[in-house]
Amino acid sequence: MRFDLITIFPEFFAGPLDHGIVRRARESRLVEVHVQDLRAFTRDRHRTVDDRPFGGGEGMVLKPEPLFEAVESLLGHGVGDASKPSAADLKTAIVLMSAAGKLFRQGTARRYAQLERIICICGRYEGVDERVAEHLATEEVSIGDFVLSGGELPAMMVVDAVTRLLPGALGNEASSQNESFSAGPVFAASSSQLEAQRAAPLQPENVNAHGNASHQSRVTSHPVLDFPHYTRPAEYRGWAVPEILIGGNHAEVAKWQCAAALEKTRRNRPDLLSGE
Ligand code: SAH
Repeated sequence: MRFDLITIFPEFFAGPLDHGIVRRARESRLVEVHVQDLRAFTRDRHRTVDDRPFGGGEGMVLKPEPLFEAVESLLGHGVGDASKPSAADLKTAIVLMSAAGKLFRQGTARRYAQLERIICICGRYEGVDERVAEHLATEEVSIGDFVLSGGELPAMMVVDAVTRLLPGALGNEASSQNESFSAGPVFAASSSQLEAQRAAPLQPENVNAHGNASHQSRVTSHPVLDFPHYTRPAEYRGWAVPEILIGGNHAEVAKWQCAAALEKTRRNRPDLLSGE
């Protein structure tokens, strides 16, 4: 997997790329991350990347030419023009980071993890000339309903979320299968589980055991959050770890985790259960 991050602040990525899983994945050549200085693709003496908006208004807008030329130089071919647009390569995503984009979710990360190449375009100022969204980017993504000052942090989030899904990136492969939004068998809630959960939150005996074939078939596609994790000490300042986790009964522990994940989802993200 190769990432190219196009930015006017190349130094921005020095820290985030050099820690933990992303660092290890780079060192083992599982991913290559190339930070591209947008100014290297300008042609004028002042290396101009921005200009005033047509129609007036505040702030500056990133110009199309350096962005088109940066992406074309990375792809090794042109993307055409209004009279002759070129076809997109299905193994490459050209992602414009944008508060006005489609939400980036775990499902987006899973889809990107199947690709060979991701080129992220980081906006700044008031944003990016719309022709980049329309005719250069293959997608326009937002990392949440808030406005940041630049696309660098969002691009880094995409790199991180996608990299940790690549086989071999995590020490323990199971960890990306049973986690928040994974919708794997442990956390995929069947409708009967949801009903039980509504009736009696956090009563494990009211929740059907997960993972058996008859329930698998009724599993819905609602993603559910991760269950709460605890470690030693078993009691801290009088707050005890749930008894059931200490007993060592794996079936009971699994039931508790399933119920706790549903309860937490209901409390923190009811939108995930209502299918909104
Ligand atoms: N005028 C724009 C905001 C520009 S913020 C608007 O109102 O939508 C400057 C740049 O920061 C954007 O071009 C984008 O690249 C990045 N950015 C800001 N918020 C973002 C978000 N939630 N997701 C992804 N990128 C974001």
